[in-house]
Amino acid sequence: MNTLHRLEGRLLLEGVSLDALAERFGTPLYVYSRQALEEAYQAYVQAFSETPHLICYAVKANSSLAILNFFAGLGTGFDIVSGGELARVLAAGGDPSKIVFSGVGKTADEMRAAIKAGILCFNVESLSELHRLSRVAGEMGRIAPVSFRVNPDVDPKTHPYISTGLKENKFGVPIADAPALYRLAASLPNLKVTGIDCHIGSQLIDLSPLADAADRVLALVDALAAEGITLHHIDLGGGVGIRYNDETPPDLDAYGRALAARFSGRHEKLLLEPGRSLVGNAGLLLTRVEYLKPGDGKNFAIVDVAMNDLMRPALYEAYHEIISVKQKNGSPTRYDIVGPICETGDFIGFARDMCIEEGDLLAILSTGAYGMSMASNYNSRPRAAEVLVNKNEIHLIRERETQDSLMACERLVY
Ligand SMILES: *Cc1c(COP(=O)(O)O)cnc(C)c1O
Repeated sequence: MNTLHRLEGRLLLEGVSLDALAERFGTPLYVYSRQALEEAYQAYVQAFSETPHLICYAVKANSSLAILNFFAGLGTGFDIVSGGELARVLAAGGDPSKIVFSGVGKTADEMRAAIKAGILCFNVESLSELHRLSRVAGEMGRIAPVSFRVNPDVDPKTHPYISTGLKENKFGVPIADAPALYRLAASLPNLKVTGIDCHIGSQLIDLSPLADAADRVLALVDALAAEGITLHHIDLGGGVGIRYNDETPPDLDAYGRALAARFSGRHEKLLLEPGRSLVGNAGLLLTRVEYLKPGDGKNFAIVDVAMNDLMRPALYEAYHEIISVKQKNGSPTRYDIVGPICETGDFIGFARDMCIEEGDLLAILSTGAYGMSMASNYNSRPRAAEVLVNKNEIHLIRERETQDSLMACERLVY
C-alpha cells in the first residue's frame, strides 16, 4: 500500500494521520485510501487496454455503499452473488446493464429482482437453476440472459477454502457437460444464451492456472460456435492475488498480454470479476492494544479487533501484516496478537516481534477485501466504523453500529 507512509514518526494514509482518525472515530476502524482504489482499478485498465473488456467488481470483497459508488463512478460493472448485493449496487448508482449474477443458490425472488433490474447476465451454475430461471423469466414475460459458469478442473494452487475450479468443488458445471447444457438453454423458452463464465479460485499467485482455464474455456466457446451457438462475452472471473506478506502476486500486465494474445481476432468481449485485487491493499484496520499479557513462553497482546471484525485469520489462517502506528525504538518482544472473543480461533497474528505498550494503536494491513464484508456481530460486538480518505479529506462512510441497532429486529416473548 504505497499510499501509507511515515512522516516524523506519524503514520499517514494519503494526507491523513491514523492517530487522529482513531481519536476522532474510535477503534476498531476500517480506513480506505481512495487513491489506492483508483490505482488498483487503473492497473486493470492499463493491463487490458488491448482487449475490449468490462471489469465487473466482485461486490462480496467489500460491499460498502461508498466503495460501490466509487467504482460505479469509474464505470465498472459488478459481479454480485445475492439479492442483497444487487440492492446495494443499485442503491450505490451502479449500472444494472453491467451486472453479472453469480452464485450456486439463487432464489426465485433474487432472479425476479435481477430480471426486473435488467442485469447483463446470470452466471448459471446448475441444470436445476437453468430450469428455474426459464420458469421465473416466463412468469414475468421476460427473457433472461444466461452464461454457464463452467468448471475447467484446473488446480489454482491456492488455499483449499478459496479454490473453486476443481471438479470436486460445488461451483459451476463440469466443462464436459457444458455443450449439452448450452444446447438445452438455447431450446428453453425465455432464455437467451449470451456468454460463458469461469472463476477458479481466489488469491491466485501463479498465472498459469488462469491461462489454462482461459484456454479450456476458449476451446469450448469455439466448439459451441461450430454448432451455431455464438456468445457475446467470455467472463474469466476474478482471483488475482495480492501481497499480504512475502507473496509475489501475478503481474497484471503479463496476464493482460496473455489474454490479449488469446482474444485478438475474436469478437467476444472479455469480462473479468476482480474483487480482492481492487480493494485488498486499499484498506487497513486500526486497533487499540487493550492489555499485554506476558506468559510462560508466550506473550499475548489483546487488542480491540476480533474475529468478528476480521475473520480471515480464523477462517483461512490468513496472514496480515501488523504495524505500530507510532514508531518505537527498543528491542521487540514476540507477541501473539489476539482479540477479546471467547474462541481460541480469535487471533489476528501469531509470533509478531513488536515494541508495544498498552493503549498503543496498531494498523492491520491489507484488510480492504473480505474484512468488513465478512464482519459479524458475534459476542454482541457492533461492527466497526469505516472511513474513506482522499488526500486530506476524511469521509465517514459507515457509522459504528450501536447496541440499539444490534437489538432493533428482536422481540421479547415473556
Ligand atoms: C469471489 C468471487 C470473485 C472475486 O474473487 P477475488 O479473488 O476477490 O478476485 C469473482 N467471481 C466470483 C464468482 C466469485 O465468487
